[in-house]
Amino acid sequence: MDLKICHLYPDVLNLYGDRGNILCLQKRLSWRGIGVSLEEKKLGEPVDFSAYDLFFIGGGQDFEQTLLLEDCRKKKEDWKAAIEDGLPFLCICGGYQLLGHSYETADGQVCDYLGAIDFYTLGSHERMIGNYAFRLLPDSGGSLVIGFENHGGRTFPGSGVSPLGRILKGHGNGDGRGTEGVRYKNVFGTYSHGPLLPKNPAFCDHLLTCALERKYGRASLAPLPDRAEKAARASMLQRLGLRE
Ligand code: GLN
Repeated sequence: MDLKICHLYPDVLNLYGDRGNILCLQKRLSWRGIGVSLEEKKLGEPVDFSAYDLFFIGGGQDFEQTLLLEDCRKKKEDWKAAIEDGLPFLCICGGYQLLGHSYETADGQVCDYLGAIDFYTLGSHERMIGNYAFRLLPDSGGSLVIGFENHGGRTFPGSGVSPLGRILKGHGNGDGRGTEGVRYKNVFGTYSHGPLLPKNPAFCDHLLTCALERKYGRASLAPLPDRAEKAARASMLQRLGLRE
């Protein structure tokens, strides 16, 4: 067994330690004796989506997001087909926003993006910053996620789009309905920087299971000790006044 991971736009979208998510995915596979390879695809490089089993995109600032517009247009049809084919994507903040129809920056520039998932985002100078927490919906494992958010964008999922989770502390989508992120097929969009996965091992394993099941038809990940992960979670849960 092995997984081929593609890190999209590492040169442009990689804020607040987002690259740590790649390290976590790699480690939680190798600790179980599962092979893992990683390729980075930078802005402007062609991507054969069928050559990979799992994609990661980090976050950026408004300026970096506007740099991606032309490249997203070129990749749009292949990218949408990959999503419809059930390829797993973990997309953080700006990397999440570009999956929707549009992102209007705080200064009023409208960025027309992929339209792969029915949602849009409106930027704002009033930023949502801080440690936050949300509970994943059952179809994403139902675990409590501890994260860090820093965004001005408010994301509004369409009526047929499931959020990734329900906010417990902080802002999330900022849509006034207490939602965070989106889950569409095997796409996981979230505002959670930090990096997200090291302190949320259950979510990381859910993502890896989705990729392994899609590739091999089945997957059973052996439990890991997760001593450091559990300690980090206990510390943050106490700071946030939450329990598992
Ligand atoms: N520019 C977007 C916003 O501010 C995303 C920021 C980010 O990726 N941290 O909402």
